[in-house]
Amino acid sequence: MTAFCRQAKYLCLMPKYASLSDVQSALRSGSTTCRAVVEHYLSRIEHTRRLNAYVEIWAEEALDKADQLDARYRENPGSVGALFGAVLSLKDNICYAGHVVTAASKILEGFTSLYSATAVERLLAEDAIFIGRTNCDQFGMGSSNENSVYGPVLHALDPERVPGGSSGGAAVSVQTDTCLAALGSDTGGSVRQPAAFCGIWGLKPTYGRISRHGLIAYGSSFDQIGVLAHNPQDITTLLHVMQGPDDFDSTADGAPSPIRGTSSAVSHPPSAVKIAYFPEVIDSEGLEPGVRVVTRHFMDQLRAGGYSVEPVAFNSGPSSDENRQGTGAGLLDYVIPAYYVLTTAEASSNLARYDGIRYGYRSAKARNLEEAYLLSRTEGFSEEVKRRILLGTFVLSSGYYDAYYNKAQQVRAMIRQSLLAIFQEYDFILMPAAPTVAWRFGEHSDDPVAMYLSDIYTVLANLAGIPALAMPAGIHPENGMPVGIQWMAAPREDDKLLSFVAGL
Ligand code: GLN
Repeated sequence: MTAFCRQAKYLCLMPKYASLSDVQSALRSGSTTCRAVVEHYLSRIEHTRRLNAYVEIWAEEALDKADQLDARYRENPGSVGALFGAVLSLKDNICYAGHVVTAASKILEGFTSLYSATAVERLLAEDAIFIGRTNCDQFGMGSSNENSVYGPVLHALDPERVPGGSSGGAAVSVQTDTCLAALGSDTGGSVRQPAAFCGIWGLKPTYGRISRHGLIAYGSSFDQIGVLAHNPQDITTLLHVMQGPDDFDSTADGAPSPIRGTSSAVSHPPSAVKIAYFPEVIDSEGLEPGVRVVTRHFMDQLRAGGYSVEPVAFNSGPSSDENRQGTGAGLLDYVIPAYYVLTTAEASSNLARYDGIRYGYRSAKARNLEEAYLLSRTEGFSEEVKRRILLGTFVLSSGYYDAYYNKAQQVRAMIRQSLLAIFQEYDFILMPAAPTVAWRFGEHSDDPVAMYLSDIYTVLANLAGIPALAMPAGIHPENGMPVGIQWMAAPREDDKLLSFVAGL
């Protein structure tokens, strides 16, 4: 298993600092300074500009902060925080006081955050340095980073391919060693899918583990801030700094799992770990053969390492109608419709605040109040965002509410129950992070439904509110692109999952 993971690690460009502990030992030994670390990343950003991962770089500010930290460290090494030397990128939908944030949308053109997200504040309090703002799909809506007012992000291994989305810039920022780790957001896979496409690690924590205060809302009951990094240890460290209750977000309980505070591997003897998978996923026609090969190989390696990897049915019970409908894939047939009904409904409500009056862009053509609303929203939102607002408004309208929105809520509850039932018996569920590797530009851009279907494996965790992590599993046998595997765990078992994958 270790050899396999080691091989997978070479999928991304070898970073100068493979982990936070690498950076910190270099700092402690005096072989580098915080300024030199920031300079390294700034020069990597310059070298990779054409990939369009960053929409703004905070070079001077990052260097100033590094100088202050170096001075503080020289004076008293004990005075620096746990994230001394951690240089991070920030997705353009997370607020940082005094910095522009736009959700990659024209509607927020020139908008400056009045406050910092709780997650950002907690990272800053431990002396993290933010180096820049990363590109993404507009309001987190998309799976390819093609839907951004700043233009697409290019995949570093093949610039003709997408990096995934919506946190495409975040993934490429880590992939190309322009920062140690990246903050992204995950409503339906936006951290895990781009991490998988780019050959790095990405965690969507349990819903509520990290406060959403200061994260620009898309689907509030789905959204979570997540971390993209080179290894699970750094993800754990950042998670522990950001997590916890917050007066500004009543859904943030942050309650950690029983195994808390570990940022290194905890040994999970293989005989004590039970892993489930859904055979209909592995056998599905929609799964690209190359992804299937890597997934099967990964499962074989786990079995060879002594883990029990068993097929389970994903349905709502043996006698339910659901099992007799659809394509025989049980509840999986319903995850995409349920996700898109519910997230568009929430988005239509969340995005009502962008009216051309309170934030960002206002159309210059407007001659009266009504035109100000109409034209600002028409010109400010992208086609995809408008499609979702329309769909969400439709499913919430009085004539259709029961048929769509309520139904989708019922499906969501059923999915959560079924997953929780599986976690009664199994520690983790394993599946590919996405049905394909990173696709070529334009492949899905004219077909929103095909794009939506590519989220099939990731949206599950957001529907159920459970933690899920993508990690590199190998490379596609034909095109050499990274293939990611995804692990899901019971609610609040983020730490158990992280320590398990760290030990693989
Ligand atoms: N691709 C999914 C969507 O477009 C997920 C996006 C996300 O997680 N923000 O909704």
